[in-house]
Formats: sequence, structure tokens, C-alpha cells
Amino acid sequence: MNFKDKIRVISDFPSPGIRFKDITTLLNDGEAFRAAIDQFSQFAAERNADIIAGPESRGFVLAAPMAYALSKGFVPIRKPGKLPHETISVDYSLEYGKDSLEIHKDAVQPGQRVIIADDLLATGGTIGATIQLVESLGAQVVGVCFLVELSYLNGREKLNGYDVFSLVQY
Ligand code: IMP
Repeated sequence: MNFKDKIRVISDFPSPGIRFKDITTLLNDGEAFRAAIDQFSQFAAERNADIIAGPESRGFVLAAPMAYALSKGFVPIRKPGKLPHETISVDYSLEYGKDSLEIHKDAVQPGQRVIIADDLLATGGTIGATIQLVESLGAQVVGVCFLVELSYLNGREKLNGYDVFSLVQY
């Protein structure tokens, strides 16, 4: 499967000069979507994952079918104020400004082996915050997977020491 062919690149979105990687075209292709989830699931199974986490919102689209395929649980990592039970949160920096993410305190257990999935690795801010949340609860991040990695932004450097898998690189 040539996954790169399935991704649409949109110039000047969301602002001038940015070449946005649109993964909706990959999701729209049933064979490609299944093949991507199969590869991610295999990556997770090989690392004996206990549970699969994904950050809102495109991470949900990938982490949930992986969890289903492996008969494991799914953990949503959400923007502030969305999760109803007790949470912990972490702030992270964006290109302009700051954002935060939250996880339910009881969503992962100490010692659990967690795989995190998201659509795209850019600077690594989002995934770094997600890892921090999971580890604050005493669980272990045994791998992170992405459909797309923007290698020129060096997000992987932030993930030094973690097992990182991406399907397509730019
Ligand atoms: P990071 O936190 O800088 O690694 O940015 C990653 C987040 O930004 C991901 O969760 C993506 O959803 C989003 N993102 C950044 N650039 C793109 C893009 O070109 N296409 C789709 N999503 C993007």
C-alpha cells in the first residue's frame, strides 16, 4: 500500500505558506484505512500493549479501531473541560500560544503498557503532552504511532527514547 498517495496536500491551509497534510482522503479509502489500522495494531500487539490512547480528535479515529481490533481498552485524551470525572491536565506550547490536554485519573493504571496513536507528528508538542499525562499516572508508554511524520520539524528528537512508528514521512 502506498500510503503517501492517499494523503492530500492542501497549499495555504490554514494559513498562507503552510502545506497541510489532509488525512481525510486516506480515511475515505476503505482499503487504506484498514491497512493503516492493521499496521498500527500489529505495532501495538508486538509491544504487548494493554491499552490504546489517542488525543482529540483525529487520534480518536485511529486509537479506537486499534483498541477494538486488539480487544483492548481505549483512552480519550481531551481538550480542557470535556471529561466529566476527575482529571489531570498538562499545558503545552503551540507555535502561537498555549493549549492543554486532560486525561481521567483512572483511565490508565500504574504499570500498564500504553500505545498512543495520532494522525500527525509535527513539532511533537501534542504527543509530548499526551505522554506526560499517561506517565504522570504511572503507566508506561511502550510506543507511539502516526500516519504522518513531518521529519523537517524534528518532532522525533522530542521523543528521544520512545519507540516511534510513522507510515508516511515528508
Ligand atoms: P505538533 O503538536 O506540533 O506535533 O502538531 C501535531 C498536531 O497538529 C496533530 O495532532 C495534528 O492534528 C495537527 N497538525 C499539524 N499539522 C498538520 C497537518 O499538516 N495536517 C493535519 N494535522 C496537522
